[in-house]
Amino acid sequence: MLDFRNEPFTDFSTPANRQAMEAALAKVGSEFGREYDLRLAGEPLKTPDKLKSVNPSRPSEIVGIHQKATPAMASKAIGAAHAFFPEWSRTDPAVRVAMLRRVAQSIRSRKLEFDAWLVYEAGKTWPEAEADVCEAIDFCEYYALEMERLSGPQPVSQLPGEKGELRYIPLGVGLIIPPWNFPLAIMAGMTAAALVTGNTVVLKPSSETPTIAAKFAEVLLEAGFPERSFCLLIGSGSAIGDLLVEHPKTRFVAFTGSRDVGLRINELAARHQKGQVWIKRVIAEMGGKDAIVVDADCDLDQAVEGVAVSAFGYQGQKCSACSRAIVDAKVYEPFLEKLQARVAGIRMGAAEDPSNYMGPVISDSARKSILNYIEVGKGEGRLLTGGSAQDSDGYFVRPTVIADVEPSAKIFQEAVSKAGSFEQALEMANDSQYGLTGAVYSNNPEHIRQARERFFVGNLYLNRKCTGAMVGAHPFGGFNLSGTDSKAGGPDYLLLFLQAKSIAEKIG
Ligand code: NAP
Repeated sequence: MLDFRNEPFTDFSTPANRQAMEAALAKVGSEFGREYDLRLAGEPLKTPDKLKSVNPSRPSEIVGIHQKATPAMASKAIGAAHAFFPEWSRTDPAVRVAMLRRVAQSIRSRKLEFDAWLVYEAGKTWPEAEADVCEAIDFCEYYALEMERLSGPQPVSQLPGEKGELRYIPLGVGLIIPPWNFPLAIMAGMTAAALVTGNTVVLKPSSETPTIAAKFAEVLLEAGFPERSFCLLIGSGSAIGDLLVEHPKTRFVAFTGSRDVGLRINELAARHQKGQVWIKRVIAEMGGKDAIVVDADCDLDQAVEGVAVSAFGYQGQKCSACSRAIVDAKVYEPFLEKLQARVAGIRMGAAEDPSNYMGPVISDSARKSILNYIEVGKGEGRLLTGGSAQDSDGYFVRPTVIADVEPSAKIFQEAVSKAGSFEQALEMANDSQYGLTGAVYSNNPEHIRQARERFFVGNLYLNRKCTGAMVGAHPFGGFNLSGTDSKAGGPDYLLLFLQAKSIAEKIG
């Protein structure tokens, strides 16, 4: 059992913490519009083509200006990471572990500042930003502990006349491609896992959240990670992604993002390139259409609360978000009545205002595509609440619930549907190409047993919301087209970044 404890969340209900957060927001706001360099093997670089990241609550505000890497730079980054790999892979794991603990400590000491960057660049409300930052700290601490476990001798049976050994060694250059929705936690987690296991890294963050990545790179350097151990490449995935994935010196790709991009990466990585002497490994964590099943015998108020926070926390943009509620016919109408009242009471507005529960969605294109989807839903079901954009500059979409949707509808994966029995509800929940998270609200022990056995998701929650996985307690990753089930924050994760070497020496 690891001696691991999750980072406690800052309590923003205390006046002192609120004031400290206001001060952090002011400090970060005063840094808006700053220009950040690319980092290519320690070399800071500027390029003529800039990427401007904006505040989704007020898109006229430029949060940071970044350099778009050229394809030649992307290729150079992989080459540089490959050149430093032999030296980095031979560092004492204890040294790398100590560096990672310093990363955790550094983020901890600048927690509210990181919270503020997440509020402004990702549109996270204070508690959502805090959860993201705490998770980043947790990943660093957890993987540091895990590396201590894995860098020691591993158990193998001993044959007479031989000394047997099994040790884990790193893979090579890792390409790290995170999404924007957990722009610190997932980026830091995948990068930390790759570096602490002795791999060198080319980090290509999401184009929506490059400033948070630039801040994280500063922390890596402060913590002692050598300049040559990682490259930070800003630039759109469509412009440099294929080149990075296909490069013959790329040894593995750790990706978290959408299904289509993940499948493309998997396909390209599988193709052998001239000069490539390995089979590339792909760790891909992708989307979900996560369902909450509401049984006839359950605490209906708890179920309504669980659905509301799982569906609308961070504007429903978490991969674990509840997009479908499947409700037993016996409690369907009272459930809808309570849900409508609960959701209609959600306050939405600028993410930096702590009285808002919901902030903006990440971008104008996200807003447009959600609104298009809502229009389809209005034709296929009954609009209970929401259904439109908020009339303001920010990328706001009102919390929307569509009910009475048949399993055959296009919008079935995003709505409230009625089930005739618990068995049918489970079937409907499993009727998806994904299998990331799911929850069941029920007081019926037999139904809970059936859910444990048959609900096909990587992360199943019983009588609680389906978001908010905690590092160490809820290793995270999904089935089917939700990805390779990497179980981030769990005991299997670092092994994905390592290969095992068996050594047998004849003795006597
Ligand atoms: P996305 O569009 O797939 O982008 C993810 C990352 O891939 C970004 O860094 C993006 O860069 C990059 N990218 C885009 N095209 C690429 C290409 N051809 N080659 C290489 N990289 C490429 O996903 P997203 O919108 O950022 O993230 C939201 C998605 O992530 C949702 O589907 C969500 O469910 C999923 N997600 C899953 C998990 C999980 O653990 N399963 C966790 C969080 C999020 P650019 O931004 O520059 O295009």
